[in-house]
Amino acid sequence: MDEISEKRLALCHPLLREKVEAAATLCEAQGVYIRVVSGLRTYEEQDQLFFSCHHSDGTRDFTKPWKTNARGGWSNHNFGMAVDVAPSMHGKDVPFNPDWDVVHPAFQIMIRELKSQGLVWGGDWKQRDDDHFQLADVEVTPTTENRILFAKGGLPAVWASYRDDLSRMPRTEMA
Ligand SMILES: [Zn+2]
Repeated sequence: MDEISEKRLALCHPLLREKVEAAATLCEAQGVYIRVVSGLRTYEEQDQLFFSCHHSDGTRDFTKPWKTNARGGWSNHNFGMAVDVAPSMHGKDVPFNPDWDVVHPAFQIMIRELKSQGLVWGGDWKQRDDDHFQLADVEVTPTTENRILFAKGGLPAVWASYRDDLSRMPRTEMA
């Protein structure tokens, strides 16, 4: 993957990184070059995104393009467990130019390969989020426990509450 993607993935959960990299390699073999356009977000960045398409009372501002339903602490992006990914209009070693057209063959190949790694695709949700992919074994929406652990010990504390392969989430005591 390109350097920008790698930098973003380096801040995400290692399992997510592994899966996106594997999918990227499979995409490249088909002439499709993908980039992580967004990875880990702070709560503040998440809130900025939320209020870019919602009024200050939290209701949807339909004059603005939809970005997210999640406030800070309520998106898997805030815990390094989700990424937004897009293919480039161009090929290898040319400036990246995102192609947001979900029906384009390149986008479809990207979806197929990321899903084949077991990632959940936001395009399957009622509120479609076509460039969003997240780990399947964590909750679709982050939990109170995630937020408490994050407040106590940041990302390492959240990640440590799962097994490495995320196969099952041992419930830790909520103090
Ligand atoms: Zn996303």
